[in-house]
Amino acid sequence: MTTPMLPVLIAGAGPVGCFIAYRLGKAGVPVQIFEKEAELPYSPRAVGYYGATQNVFQDAGLYELIRSEGFVTTGLCWRQLPTPNSEGGKSLGRMIAHQPLCAPGDTVRACPSGLLNLRQSELTKLLLREALATGNVSVSFSREVTSIEQKDDCVHIGLNDSPELHVTGSYLVGADGGKSRVRKILGTPCLGHTWPERLISTDVHLYNEVDPVYHTMYIMDTKNYTIMTPLTEPKVGQRSLWRCTIAIPPEDERTDDELAQEAAIQDLYEQVVPGPRPLQAEISTKTVYRIHQRLVTTMRKGRCVLAGDAAHLNNPYGAMGLNTGLLDGDALAEALLMVLQEGKSEELLTIYSDERRRVYQKFVDPTTTANKLRLHSPNAEAAAADDEYFRTLQNPTPEVLAELAKPYFEIWRTDMRALAEKFGL
Ligand SMILES: Cc1cc2nc3c(=O)[nH]c(=O)nc-3n(C[C@H](O)[C@H](O)[C@H](O)COP(=O)(O)OP(=O)(O)OC[C@H]3O[C@@H](n4cnc5c(N)ncnc54)[C@H](O)[C@@H]3O)c2cc1C
Repeated sequence: MTTPMLPVLIAGAGPVGCFIAYRLGKAGVPVQIFEKEAELPYSPRAVGYYGATQNVFQDAGLYELIRSEGFVTTGLCWRQLPTPNSEGGKSLGRMIAHQPLCAPGDTVRACPSGLLNLRQSELTKLLLREALATGNVSVSFSREVTSIEQKDDCVHIGLNDSPELHVTGSYLVGADGGKSRVRKILGTPCLGHTWPERLISTDVHLYNEVDPVYHTMYIMDTKNYTIMTPLTEPKVGQRSLWRCTIAIPPEDERTDDELAQEAAIQDLYEQVVPGPRPLQAEISTKTVYRIHQRLVTTMRKGRCVLAGDAAHLNNPYGAMGLNTGLLDGDALAEALLMVLQEGKSEELLTIYSDERRRVYQKFVDPTTTANKLRLHSPNAEAAAADDEYFRTLQNPTPEVLAELAKPYFEIWRTDMRALAEKFGL
């Protein structure tokens, strides 16, 4: 009689944990997810997925499903603050640069192109549903991973600080977010810095007066620089749901609670949101965040591996956090499958850690840092000429765009099978 395979344990039913569970479950590996909250949490965070992540969804057999629940937009633009118009409202600010993510006039936007949009909370529900449907994945809510004991051939975890609640698995994936308890238990430092600004992130219903063409808009300002991006497909002449994330400068001494007051948010909207006045902005969700640039010293300790925000954090200007986490998930699932099903060396988990840390250091960290700094450049007009990125985008020919897109396709995703071959594993 063969002994049944021990499950892979996953801390955290966030999007990264659920994606890894789906990939493993689909390949026949038993998985148990433990989520500390009583249900999947909602918070106004990620929404857009770039080409590399679309390819990962495609390879996992999920692209069409995600697209059918979401929608695709054409790309990004950078604008100055909205300006008063003759009707007493505010028009979209001058466009400093735009970065199409699909060819002009492309109405099909086949994978991988454009920005695929689906709210993180909806994506997580979809991923968990599909993971459970594999028949190999289970999820336990109100279960926090609180202790870890590693053996040569397995890992024991304790839950809810209760001596009665413990489980044994083959490996533990810490996909438990930025405040990762798994990371802390493992004693892995997460080094870097926290930016002095805070962000107030809101979901808000707004009237769509005009078509901005590039729907993900970075609005430049020295203090209250902003990202506006649609959460549901926007139609001109109708109201729809938008994510509006506004920076709060360090000198603003209001508490988080004061900032989250309706009147305080409406004051900020007055400056940064275009449209008729009085602005009819109906807020549905609001959260104040701190933002960081941080990376763990290793993503692997023995049989425990970290992925997503548990391993690295970046500011959200450029929308790269969850994309990077899902690309971690893609690489880690492949590495675990090679170890568990093909008998390959566990050394692959160290290679996973080294490669994903390198991707953060060489690509995600510098790109998101530059994206953020560019947005609060003291003179938006001058930035269009001074900043090489903006200067390049003044003439966005297909060749220029392909060159800019290169690292997003060539560096961001990690091919674990190619690495296994390279290292002779
Ligand atoms: C304002 C804002 C906007 C953003 N926009 C974008 C964007 O457009 N694109 C993008 O790519 N990224 C974006 N991000 C980043 C993105 O939200 C994160 O990268 C993403 O949430 C990471 O997913 P995760 O699964 O790693 O962690 P999380 O989403 O944090 O999930 C972790 C889960 O683990 C659970 N948990 C915690 N501790 C334990 C424990 N000990 N045991 C069991 N469960 C536990 C938590 O309850 C949670 O459900 C944004 C972030 C912010 C703040």
